[in-house]
This record gives sequence, structure tokens and C-alpha cells, in this order.
Amino acid sequence: MLTAIVGINWGDEGKGRMVDLLTGEYDVVIRYQGGGNAGHTVVNDLGKFALHLLPSGIFRQGVVNILGNGVALDCESLWTEIQDVSGKGVSITPENLKISDRASLLLPWHRDLDELEERRLADKKYGSTKQGIAPFYSDKYQKKTVLAGELLYPDKLWERLDGILEWKNLTLEKVYGAKPWTKEALHAWIEEFGGKIKPFICDTGAFLRKAEKDGKRILFEAQLGSLRDLDYGIYPYTTSSNAIAAYAPVGSGLPGAKLDKVVGVVKAYSSCVGEGPFTCEFFGDDAHRLREAGGEYGAKTGRPRRVGPIDLVATRYGVQCQGATDIALTKLDILSYMDQIPICAHYELNGQRTGEFPFPALLADAKPVMEYMPGWKCDISGARKWEDLPQAARNYVEYVEREIGCHITYVSVGPEREAIILR
Ligand code: GDP
Repeated sequence: MLTAIVGINWGDEGKGRMVDLLTGEYDVVIRYQGGGNAGHTVVNDLGKFALHLLPSGIFRQGVVNILGNGVALDCESLWTEIQDVSGKGVSITPENLKISDRASLLLPWHRDLDELEERRLADKKYGSTKQGIAPFYSDKYQKKTVLAGELLYPDKLWERLDGILEWKNLTLEKVYGAKPWTKEALHAWIEEFGGKIKPFICDTGAFLRKAEKDGKRILFEAQLGSLRDLDYGIYPYTTSSNAIAAYAPVGSGLPGAKLDKVVGVVKAYSSCVGEGPFTCEFFGDDAHRLREAGGEYGAKTGRPRRVGPIDLVATRYGVQCQGATDIALTKLDILSYMDQIPICAHYELNGQRTGEFPFPALLADAKPVMEYMPGWKCDISGARKWEDLPQAARNYVEYVEREIGCHITYVSVGPEREAIILR
């Protein structure tokens, strides 16, 4: 059984919470793209965790967690995360965490370059989290980084790394006027942090092929959402990797596999971190109340997130991009304070009403067309069955389901593992 859990919108939909819930039914959990630039928040009996690169299955005994070849492998921040999480009583060993030997290394200058470029762009910046993700993926595609597995062959590693260093220093010095990296500093960084993660590196492709053959249940965990996908999102305000489910087999080490199930996570309202067009955005008091109610502050950066009502146009498009078979609707409880539930039902573009998600360059001209449904005005966080929800809440879920064209299988009414309704 191969299942992907993906974000349908701009990210922060509550994927971490859904993976944490579902990992109980799976043997293997894999991160297949992106790096430590996102934050999945997981609340369970061990406490509250913000995961950046570690797969969310790390909390379950017996689950094997994999960082696939598609991720941006930052050994330094991964090591910090491993220490943080294991410091809270979670055991992390080469038995339950495996790193693909084909994952490319994010090198220390990628973070420098991210910072330097955002500074150069000033008010035209993309709103990067400055974790080096864009410079990393550019270099990966230029073949100017090394694979994690190369750490296991130091005699071959240094020659390549020193060549890359020489090339990279041209950019640092000549383009940005920044300090170059020295060989000594690079070697020390690799020795220290590469050394720490070495025990976890193996041929995860071979592991996965065997797991699949043995009928193991495999879960692919995405970062961000459809609208941040490099190819299908709101380019250039996307991330630099493919967050869609179709990439999961490729970025994991099972390139020939077909997914059996794609669970798309949608929040009962919208949020968006950073720059870029966000058609359904609320401002002023409405934004403030929703942001506070939903605790919409970045898990990685603490930045206040932009918020708005659910956006049916963007969500329908996101569902299609993901090929979602099931939807998990999260944070329905957050809307309980509202008299009326706002819904962005259409866009207006050049005087025309549309239900189709526009081409990225046209998005800034789109205006939201709003609808409202009656609110329920009571605490629903204790609901565990569909019938426990007030009629108005059920009406809202059913309306969203009809409009986005995919079955809402899970309704989440709280951050805790058990605060879920299965439909
Ligand atoms: P992710 O990156 O998609 O996992 O999303 P984040 O972790 O950034 O955001 C989800 C936040 O909402 C986390 O703090 C979760 O604990 C919390 N959360 C998830 N589902 C629910 C829910 O149904 N209700 C409430 N109140 N909080 C939720």
C-alpha cells in the first residue's frame, strides 16, 4: 500500500498532524522533497514538536523513517533537529532513520547565498526562509554538489568538493562581494556534520524495493502544498522542488511505483507565508482575529502568516494537481467563533467571474468573490463522530466537498492525535 500525504494549498495545512495520526497504520514514512525550511507541528503524548526535516513517523515505535533522494539534506540543521527531538525522549537510530545515499548535500554556502540574494533583491524579495533551499536546488541541477553517499568514500569526495568550492567562491566574491569559504572551513564542516549523519546513510532505494515486495505499508510525506510546487504553483513564489504527489515515488527511491492513495490536506480557512499573490487575503481586524484564533505564526520562522477564508478556486486546482483520492479537512474548530463562515467561491478576473485558477502572472489581478454560510458558534473540539458536529458545520463540510470534487474522509477538530472525525 503506497499512500502520499500532501498539502493542497500554500502549505501549513496540518500535514504533520495527519501524518502523525496515520503513521500508526504504516511501516515506513518518507520525506521526498524540500528541506528544513518548513515546519510540521506534531502534538502527541511526548509533547509538542516542530519537525523541519525529520519524517513525522519518527515518534512511532517500529516505523522506519526515510529521507529520500529528493530532499535538500542539510547535515547541520538535521543534526540539530535529531538532538532536539531525541533530547525529548524520542529514540533516533540507524534502525528507525535512514538517509538516502542519493540525497544531495545542502552545503553551508547555500544559506549564505540565500541571504545575500534576498538582501540584493531588497523590496522585491521572494520571502525566502533563508535556509539555502533555492541555491541548493540550483546547484543540484547544475551537478555542483555531492551526494550523501559520497561521504562514505572520502578519497573520492574531497577532490570533487574542492573543485566545487573553487567554483562557488567565484560567485561569492565576484557577484556578491562576500567572504569566500576556505578549504579548512569546508573540511571542518563536512567532518563535523557529515560525520554525524554518516551512520544513517544507506541505499534506501534497495530498502524500499524490498519493503514494497514484502507488502509493507509505505507513506510519503510532502512539505508545503500544490500552490508552492515548482512547476504547478504560483511561480516564482513557489518553492524550488516538486511538492506534488506525482513526485513522491521519484524523490523517494521507488521511481517506478504507482500510488494507491493520495490524502490531500486542506485547512478550513487559508493561510500563506511570505510574498506572492494571495487572492482571498483578509486584512485588518478580520485577519487579526483569524490569525489569533488559528495561531497562524510560522513554525520555523515565527512570522505572522497571511490568512483568509477557504479559497474554493485554489483548492479545487490543488486537488486536481495532487490527484487526491481523499481529503483531510483540518482546523474546523478554529471557525467556531464566526457568526458567518466566509468562503471565497470564485475569482473575478478582468470583469469576468471564473472558477478556474489563473495563470500565475494574472493572479495579482484576480479579486475574490465571496459567499457566506451560517456559523455554528459553539465548541466542536470534542466531536469525534460526524453526528457530533452541529448541522451548520456539517453543511459547511459538505458544501466544500461538493465544490472541490473530492471526498472529505477526515475532519480534524483539534491538534491532538484523537481530535479527528472519520467519515
Ligand atoms: P503543516 O506544515 O502542514 O504540518 O502545518 P503546521 O504544522 O504549520 O500547522 C498546523 C498547526 O495547526 C499545528 O500547530 C497543528 O498542531 C495545528 N492543528 C492541526 N490540525 C488542527 C485542528 O484540527 N485544530 C486545531 N485547533 N489545530 C490543529
